[in-house]
Amino acid sequence: PLPDKGTEIAKLHGIGKAYGAVQAVRGVDLEIRSGEVLGVIGPNGAGKTTLVNMISGLEAPTSGEGEVLGVRLGATGGAHRFAQAGVSRTFQHSKLFDRLTVLDNVLVGTHAVSKSTYLRRLLWLPSARRDERRALALAWAQLERVGLADRANLRPGALSYGDQRRLEIARALASHPTLLILDEPAAGMNHVEAAELAGLIRSLAEDGITVLFIEHNVKMVLEACTRLVVLNFGEVIAEGEPSEVAADPAVVEAYLGTE
Ligand code: ATP
Repeated sequence: PLPDKGTEIAKLHGIGKAYGAVQAVRGVDLEIRSGEVLGVIGPNGAGKTTLVNMISGLEAPTSGEGEVLGVRLGATGGAHRFAQAGVSRTFQHSKLFDRLTVLDNVLVGTHAVSKSTYLRRLLWLPSARRDERRALALAWAQLERVGLADRANLRPGALSYGDQRRLEIARALASHPTLLILDEPAAGMNHVEAAELAGLIRSLAEDGITVLFIEHNVKMVLEACTRLVVLNFGEVIAEGEPSEVAADPAVVEAYLGTE
């Protein structure tokens, strides 16, 4: 069950990340509430990817402290531990399996065909088939949700670029996340695809999934997000209601003015 709308699901306190002499993220305070769509924008190198890598357990902070769905930032167990707690994400560069069908790509994300299912299948136990049927139904449901059910048997390479990005989202949804993190989901999309994606993200939030996404397409960000955070040189320089933040002179100077 997803947490009630508005419940705090993540809290970051003075989070920082240094790579040697490079301070990629510095002193970030941030809270994330259930059901919101939080957009993160900022110039190249502002620390956006580093920040979401810490929130999804891929990297540990070098200063500050924080918690996501009850897991401490930097906790041992890394991304796997965060995934078990309900964090799921996509990456800037596609990680689809080209030799699997669209449906099987989503099935991979269900985690249901686990080692124990596999063993039970070897032993011909009926419970293994039940697990697999359940995983299949779940994968189908995610394909329907993103509008790709009619292309389930194709290979990802046969899909349009925008559809491939949606397939990645379907796969990330297959693990039933509480917090879905998307890294530049609209990159390379045309206007129509980006507008559709904004609609999909909003519908996920209506279903109670919290979405955190990094994006360079400001129009799409303003269409999709309920709150906007702007990073510059690793620091949060503005945060709040999206259209107000986008009109903030400091934001325009640091980022939008350079577009
Ligand atoms: P972009 O929009 O280009 O993806 P970003 O806002 O996501 O940029 P980050 O990728 O988080 O920015 O990078 C922030 C800073 O940290 C940059 O100066 C980058 O060069 C540096 N950095 C990121 N990862 C590493 C690493 N593994 N080792 C050293 N420096 C790194």
